[in-house]
Amino acid sequence: MDELAERYTAVLNRINNAAQRAGRNPGGITLVAVTKTWPDAVSLAAYEVGMRNFGENHPEELARKAKAVTTELGADSGIIWHQIGPVQSRKTKLVAQYADVLHALDRLKIANRLSRQLADAGKILPVFLEVNLSGEASKAGFLCTNWEEDATQQAELRKVVDTVTNLPSLSLYGLMTMAPWRVEETIIRTIFRRTRLLAEWLEQTMPSIQAPLHLSMGMTDDFEIAIEEGATHVRVGRAIFGERDYSN
Ligand SMILES: *Cc1c(COP(=O)(O)O)cnc(C)c1O
Repeated sequence: MDELAERYTAVLNRINNAAQRAGRNPGGITLVAVTKTWPDAVSLAAYEVGMRNFGENHPEELARKAKAVTTELGADSGIIWHQIGPVQSRKTKLVAQYADVLHALDRLKIANRLSRQLADAGKILPVFLEVNLSGEASKAGFLCTNWEEDATQQAELRKVVDTVTNLPSLSLYGLMTMAPWRVEETIIRTIFRRTRLLAEWLEQTMPSIQAPLHLSMGMTDDFEIAIEEGATHVRVGRAIFGERDYSN
């Protein structure tokens, strides 16, 4: 418990420092604690030391933890559950039921299914559109590798934005991106900066958007760079909880 509190405090301090360097208010930055692969008890321990925003990659795991934690703490715990990984069609129902925010909307088919299921549940879900600026094939997201020049990419993204803003049970909350792994800092920084400029371009050219768009970007290895470039949501796992053990 003490070690978890220390790691959490250290990450909060790093967020504050990065915000200060960028002349930003640290209060405008949400730390999403990524608990994927850890047992339910770790979410409860994280709650004890003050964390309230939890991120999970897989809808089943999010549903399992949301149920277990709600049983333990009650429905008014103040926890916000973030689905941070892309969602497959057959998992949308779990997201509609258990997630409070979706960070990785990457297909219109998923948007349509989710909106129908959310309407049945009487919920509105804030969503980030995942955008792929690096071009890495392993990354999900709408292709925006050359959005500044490529009229086709622009038109496709605008169509997505139009569709999502017109769906009754989704609310377009922002853009999410992932930087490539193991590349120079300048490359990572450029990806984050271009994502912010993309959000600004959408805000300026699409009146249907409720500005400001939020920016979900930055993980353990790059969250400070992301904050310097405008991130409003950082998704941090290992810096808080340690290395994951996928054999669990
Ligand atoms: C696992 C994961 C994270 C957190 O990664 P860390 O390197 O542990 O901070 C953030 N975002 C997504 C989408 C993830 O899958």
